[in-house]
Amino acid sequence: MSDKLWDRIRIWYPPSSNCVVCGKGHLSGRLYTCSEECHQKFIDRLVAEFGEYKKVLDVETGRSYRVPTRDIIEGGLRQRDLAKYPEWSDEVPVRSKSNE
Ligand SMILES: [Zn+2]
Repeated sequence: MSDKLWDRIRIWYPPSSNCVVCGKGHLSGRLYTCSEECHQKFIDRLVAEFGEYKKVLDVETGRSYRVPTRDIIEGGLRQRDLAKYPEWSDEVPVRSKSNE
């Protein structure tokens, strides 16, 4: 997966054996967190940072889709899954980052 969102997550939250939310060590199969509760907090934090939706380009068709950030983080995102999301429209208001 070459998605930039994932690159940023990896940089900010390198996979480790400590929960990124509470810092507890854990041996679960989870990549970042120790429990469902911490997982939800982790997702909320990322959604706050990246926004509720992310524009994802299907490189094969050239179409862009409106994908919930949560889905990307939780499931990873496969090319074939993109079609189930609504197509990205530029009429959808996108939060501007240039108003600082
Ligand atoms: Zn935790």
